[in-house]
This record gives sequence, C-alpha cells and structure tokens, in this order.
Amino acid sequence: LTEKEWRENRLIKIKKWEENCPWEDFINDKTILTILGKKKKTEKKEILDIITKAKENALTGEMLSPEEVAALSNVQDQELWEAIFEAAYWIKCKVYGNRIVLFSPLYISSPCVNNCVYCGFRNSNHSIQTKTLTLEELEEEIKVLTNMGQKRLIVVYGEHPASNYEYICQTIEKIYSIKNGKGEIRRVNVNAAPLFVDEYKAVKSVGIGTYQVFQETYHHPTYKKLHPQNTLKGQYKWRLFALHRALQAGIDDVAIGALFGLYDWRFELLGLLYHAMSLEKEFGVGSHTISYPRLEPAINTPLTGNSSYLVNDEDFKKIVAIIRLMCPYTGSILTAREAPALRQEIIKKGGVSQMDAGSRIAVGGYTEIQKEHIPNKQQFVLQDTRSLDDFIYDLCKDGYLPSFCTACYREGRTGDNFMPLAKHATVKNFCIGNGILTFKEYLMDYASPKVKEIGEKVIIPNYLKWLDENVPQAAKQVRRLLKEEEAGKR
Ligand code: SAM
Ligand code: SF4
Repeated sequence: LTEKEWRENRLIKIKKWEENCPWEDFINDKTILTILGKKKKTEKKEILDIITKAKENALTGEMLSPEEVAALSNVQDQELWEAIFEAAYWIKCKVYGNRIVLFSPLYISSPCVNNCVYCGFRNSNHSIQTKTLTLEELEEEIKVLTNMGQKRLIVVYGEHPASNYEYICQTIEKIYSIKNGKGEIRRVNVNAAPLFVDEYKAVKSVGIGTYQVFQETYHHPTYKKLHPQNTLKGQYKWRLFALHRALQAGIDDVAIGALFGLYDWRFELLGLLYHAMSLEKEFGVGSHTISYPRLEPAINTPLTGNSSYLVNDEDFKKIVAIIRLMCPYTGSILTAREAPALRQEIIKKGGVSQMDAGSRIAVGGYTEIQKEHIPNKQQFVLQDTRSLDDFIYDLCKDGYLPSFCTACYREGRTGDNFMPLAKHATVKNFCIGNGILTFKEYLMDYASPKVKEIGEKVIIPNYLKWLDENVPQAAKQVRRLLKEEEAGKR
C-alpha cells in the first residue's frame, strides 16, 4: 500500500470502530468548565482540608474529586501553594520513597502521516529530515545507551506504515535481544499512536512495559482545531479510548498525558483526572504514570511560540504538584523538555518519580553525534542537555537515590498486581532496596569518579540506613546482594 492508501484504509477502520465504540465519551467540556467556574474561589480552610485528604489518600489509593482539583488549581494565596508543594513531596516519598527512576527516550521512527499543528514531525513540515531506523541502526543506538548505563527506555514512533505495529514488535524484540557486555535494556515502554486490540495483543506478546498515549488536549474544539479531521489523529474518541483498548488486549500498564500549552491548563488537569477515573472504573487499574509535556519550540512550527495558552514556569510547578495530590499512586514523569534548574526544583515541589537524562530526540541521535543536538531532525527542542552522569551527580548532591530499577515489570508486579502496592504506599519497600542495587551496578560499571565518590560514600550508606530503620528484613537481603554484585553478579 502507498502511504496514502494505508492512511485512508486505516481511517475507514477507525471511523467504524468509533461508530461501535463500547464506551461513552467521559469528557464533557461544559461540565468541566462549570466546575472550574464554581471553584474559582475557595476558603482557605477548605483548601487545607483538601491537602489533608490528599495525604490520607496516599494510604488508600483514592483520588481527589474534580471539584477538589478545580479548587486547588484556582488557589491564589502563596502560603497555600507552599503547603501544596510540601504535600506533593510528602506523598511522593510516602508512596515511592526518595528515589528517582531514570530512563531514556529513544526515537525510532519519525515519518508521520498526521499533521498535528504543534509537532515538528507533522507530515507537511518539510524542514525536518525524517528517518526510520533499520534494525542494525537500532542496535547501534542501544549500544550507546547501554554504554551510558541505561536500563529502561521509552521508545517513540511517528504514525506511519513504515512504523506499524509489526515494526514496533520487531524493534522491541530486537532491543531485548541485545547484550552489550554487562549492559542490557530491561524494560521497553512505548509511546506510539493508538492501535486496534489485535495489534496491541501482538505488542503485548513481545514484552512491552508501559503503553503511553497522550490525549494532548482534552478540550474537544481545541483538539479538532489542532488535529485536522481527515487525519488518523483527528479522531478524538479513537484516541481517548486508546488505552482502554490496550487494557482490553491484556497490556497491564498504560499511561496518560496532556501536552500543556494547547489549552487552559486547569481544564487539562480535570481531563487527566476524568481519564484516570474512567480507566479505574472500567478496569480497576488507574494510569501507571501521568506525563505533562509542555509545548516546546519546534522548527517551522509557529504554534509553539504563539499559542495563547503557553504555560509559564510558576504555573507548570503548580500543575505537577496538583497531579501528585490528585492521583497519589501514579508515577509522575518530568522530562528533559524542562531546563535543569527548574527540574531540580520540581523534584522537591512536585513529587516527581521518573525522569529522563542524557536524552537525544533525533532519530539516530545517540549514535550519529553524541555531543550535539540536531535541531532539524528533532521533534522539538530539549532544554536539559546534561549527560546522564552529570544528571545523576546533581541528584546525588540533593540527596536523592538514582534508580535504574525495572524489577516490578520483570517480577510480574504490573497492572492489578502493582496497583495495590502503590495504592497502599508499600511499593517503596521494594523501590529503595532495588534502587540501591541498580545504582550500585551503575557505580561499578559506568560512573565517573565524582559520582562514584558521592554514591559510595553518601547515597548508598544513607539509603541502607533508611532500609535498616524501615524495612529491616529487606536491608539484610540487599546487603547480601550488594556483596554478590561486588563479586561480579548483575
Ligand atoms: N506519534 C505518536 C503520537 O502522536 O501519539 C507518538 C508521540 S509523539 C512522537 C510524542 C509526544 O510528544 C506527543 O504525544 C506530544 O505530547 C509531544 N509533543 C509533540 N510536539 C511537541 C512539542 N512541540 N513540544 C513538546 N512536546 C511535543
Ligand atoms: Fe505525528 Fe505524533 Fe507528531 Fe502528531 S504528535 S505529527 S501523530 S509524531
């Protein structure tokens, strides 16, 4: 099939699916706008009660209500914001412990049949050189990533016949098959266009970690304006239920997100909440993670500079903190789209649990040039270009435990096996021990002298002490495994 035929055939199938969609659209623009209007001003006492409730929810796995989230998003008092930021960090530490899980994005294919107005990879943007990796080129990328010490990826694809579900399966299988000395990728998460149930089943069968699909904007008219109606991505409902279909197909961990800067951020927060509530209602598992990418400049993409909804740094911090309060069990992903100083600040103020580092977002970007970024091959511009090792050093300086852990996925703690641990704030009992063990691997195999020094002398002893005090039975086991690692085991 030509690209055009593939797109047209798929669009017919998608429209048919939408006609028979088994679920009701759960985003009601009017309801959300009414709630936001009603909750424009809330008494201080009520806000403090919501903060207390959010902290209690960290132990039960409950979410805040749309009204409560709307109230938080309209807070004006700076003192109350400080209380919200503090609560966000408290919740993150309560559920996951003081660790940050590290990953890298790997862009595998950039040609795309869609025309999303904000994206550098859109079909009509001829200022970008697009590319689909061959399996040999993919192997080279993985070698660079594993030589850095990376163990966990989010692989990213444009929507195109060259990167259809079969190609997605092939590339995931290839990644898991590559052994590079002591290095290997242990978990492959995916960010790709929505699929049909049988296609998701194929992707599940090759061992996918989490499947991410971002709705971009939940606001129907804005969605329509930014995603031309004759494109695959133009189909709102098809995308809204992408992760419902993934769960139907047996994929355990799914992840939602919104691209902040397309419409009012307060509206998008409620959209994310309704999305998580629907997953919870239909499948009993909420979203494994929530992402909040913020619109970044992209070549020949004017919207990225002139959208009237661009989010400033102050509001961005609020978004991250409210997500932590609204959905305490979910992982929270802060990407290298943001500048280094802001990222360091938000870890503490927003209760972030996962971050990427040393990232390249051009297809072939890890192999092709390892020092510079390649603007005319990237989807957008990255702000944080620190190396993985420098990033880890900065985490250590602030006392966080860098973690390369992929154990939940490999031990089958996914979906409804994982959720109770996160919902009852006991997952940290695994996170800290496994974080220590995987960080130790990094220290022995990849770290620079300065990271080795701070890691061995400060971070590992501090977190072993935490284990001694909080999970003594795990502390014993971790000490035994550390000895095995020192003797060569990984
Ligand atoms: N093509 C797939 C799709 O649209 O679902 C893969 C995702 S795309 C390569 C990854 C994500 O990048 C998008 O879902 C969007 O949220 C984000 N993105 C697109 N353009 C962006 C920009 N200019 N700045 C920041 N993030 C952007
Ligand atoms: Fe394609 Fe995704 Fe970019 Fe839209 S956001 S143009 S679907 S790569």
